Amino acid sequence: MKNDSVIKRIKPEVRAISAYTLREYEYEIKINQNENPYDVPCELKKEILEFAMERSWSRYPPFIPEELKERLAEYAGWKADGVLVGNGSNEIIQALLTVFLERGKKLVIPSPTFTLYRLIGTVVGAEVISVPLRNDYTFDCDEIEKQFLKDGDMLIICNPNNPTGCMYPLSRIESILQKTDAPVVVDEAYFEFAGETIAGLLKEYGNLVVLRTFSKAFSLAGLRVGYGLMNPDMAKEVGKAKLPYNINFFSIASALKLLENYTKLDTKVKEIIGERKPLIDAMNKIEGVTAYPSKANFILFETPFAPKKIFERLLAEGILIRDVSSYPMLEKALRVSVSTQSDNRRFLNYLTRILYELKDER
Ligand SMILES: *Cc1c(COP(=O)(O)O)cnc(C)c1O
Repeated sequence: MKNDSVIKRIKPEVRAISAYTLREYEYEIKINQNENPYDVPCELKKEILEFAMERSWSRYPPFIPEELKERLAEYAGWKADGVLVGNGSNEIIQALLTVFLERGKKLVIPSPTFTLYRLIGTVVGAEVISVPLRNDYTFDCDEIEKQFLKDGDMLIICNPNNPTGCMYPLSRIESILQKTDAPVVVDEAYFEFAGETIAGLLKEYGNLVVLRTFSKAFSLAGLRVGYGLMNPDMAKEVGKAKLPYNINFFSIASALKLLENYTKLDTKVKEIIGERKPLIDAMNKIEGVTAYPSKANFILFETPFAPKKIFERLLAEGILIRDVSSYPMLEKALRVSVSTQSDNRRFLNYLTRILYELKDER
């Protein structure tokens, strides 16, 4: 009874939404979260561990990870005082929404897109305005621009978009930036796979924010490192909504080590990019399958059968993909991460067989 009454004191909009969760499954091939199939190289892990052995664990990490900010600034072609490092880029998303939004303000996002924007937008009390993708799952740039310029307080574009893989043309983002001083956040979590960035416009537009992460191309999802690029004055304000010591010394050291050795990772990123188009083409050759173009390390696809059925049959073979059919518009869709050549082949073989079997059962 007592629990009941304390829960009622939580904001109604928070109680109304469901939490961001992901069930755990047993698998042999994990291609459900767009992680890098290649782990951090062993020799780099050893160097990081050696550093961690020498460094005192009883002492706080640096208050601001200056060296990491400088290396990130070099990597991204921006200024160090305009870099915010977060415990995953999710933390920067949270900080941005916290400082810019509140009840009565409007967050404009495309739909479907990354779930977290709506979730945190709702938690901070903002009204979330969703602009549906077009039927071919590309951005409706005209409608997004119209809705945002009307009375939007923040726009978030995931570029390329998770879970569809489509790109928002950079020239269309610039055309929005020219017409407003409201913040435009571009989540480039998959930048290394897309090879295209809006970061070049940071010096021209003080309302542009670019988000990046170490969770995908940098193979570091387990250590939680992400960053935001924005004008230094904005970084100062947004930084107030981050927790002190948000990023631990182990993660800082790992991120630095990986930046220093990025050429090693880049080879693997290029390999994954090389797998992407052949995999999409091969999927489209399976009767009944539509795989959509993607600039990221994942592929959205549809089949004539219930996504749950495809998901479960693949899982029975040890292959874990993502059923995205609960997203708006995507009732028939699944998402698969592009992995190593052997993983991709195994996925393709089973997908082919499962579709064949399901057709037979009809
Ligand atoms: C994976 C992903 C991220 C990464 O979040 P982290 O907190 O850095 O792990 C951010 N945005 C999108 C759209 C993603 O898909």
